[in-house]
Amino acid sequence: MPQEKPLKPLPLTSTPVDAASRRAIEPTICYSVETLPRPDLSSYQALRHDLDLIETIVVPPRDAAAWKVPAAHFCRIVCSEGPQVGDLNLFNLHNLDERFYSGKTRALHGTHVGRGDQLYSNFPYLRPLATITHDTLDWYGFDEFGGAVHDVIGTRCDPYTHNLLSHGGQYHHCCHSNLTRALAASTGMELEKAESHVHDVLNVFMCTGFTRDTGQYFMKASPVRRGDYLEFFAEVDLLGCLSACPGGDCSFEHSSDAATCHPLQVEVYKPRRLPEGWAPPRQNPYDRSHGL
Ligand SMILES: [Zn+2]
Repeated sequence: MPQEKPLKPLPLTSTPVDAASRRAIEPTICYSVETLPRPDLSSYQALRHDLDLIETIVVPPRDAAAWKVPAAHFCRIVCSEGPQVGDLNLFNLHNLDERFYSGKTRALHGTHVGRGDQLYSNFPYLRPLATITHDTLDWYGFDEFGGAVHDVIGTRCDPYTHNLLSHGGQYHHCCHSNLTRALAASTGMELEKAESHVHDVLNVFMCTGFTRDTGQYFMKASPVRRGDYLEFFAEVDLLGCLSACPGGDCSFEHSSDAATCHPLQVEVYKPRRLPEGWAPPRQNPYDRSHGL
């Protein structure tokens, strides 16, 4: 990925004599995975072969749709026709102020999520909204460029950044706008109010990473194919909102009508029983005194 001009100016500060030893210090994982509560995946797995499909929602290309997932139900996001990336927002159905927290989910699970990872909500709730129970792209791993699927590093394509980068462009089918319209339509909120609830997404099926040399966010054609799906278990009653990104498979461009786009399908499944030992996660019990 050659740069036409340097991304950042050259350093003004001379390199200290001990630079090599400072750089050689080994990193530490920020959050201990040993103490992170983990779901009992086998209890979910035991239910997956006996599910009743109760609702199917089609998300049109370059548009979004919202739907409800009752707690203890499964939900699949399906690549139903052709390679297509989806931008997912999740809310507590009964309190839209509680929503998916991409940043903390990333800090806990890494840049890309998969089976067994839990999608956490924002402060002060900080609890799992959903648990990923199946991923037909779990074979992909990290490729030679450092790319992987289902990222929590991108934010969502949006008309403001597009305007900034295109020097005044007005494009209305970025995921941010699609999610805003769908949320407004499903809740009855004014568009402006709905927009304030749209948050950083889980980029379903999107293949992304950071360049090793410049640390820039990159995307490449998603490996998703027709029939692939990402499945999660709703830990609480959820309102989901999904945009079929105008970038299509995100191989070369988004924020325009240039890419080939496909619909996505959302399927909600009811299990015959609850996972053994499962209980809805409670709100984070930090006392919120903040030292006072
Ligand atoms: Zn998008």
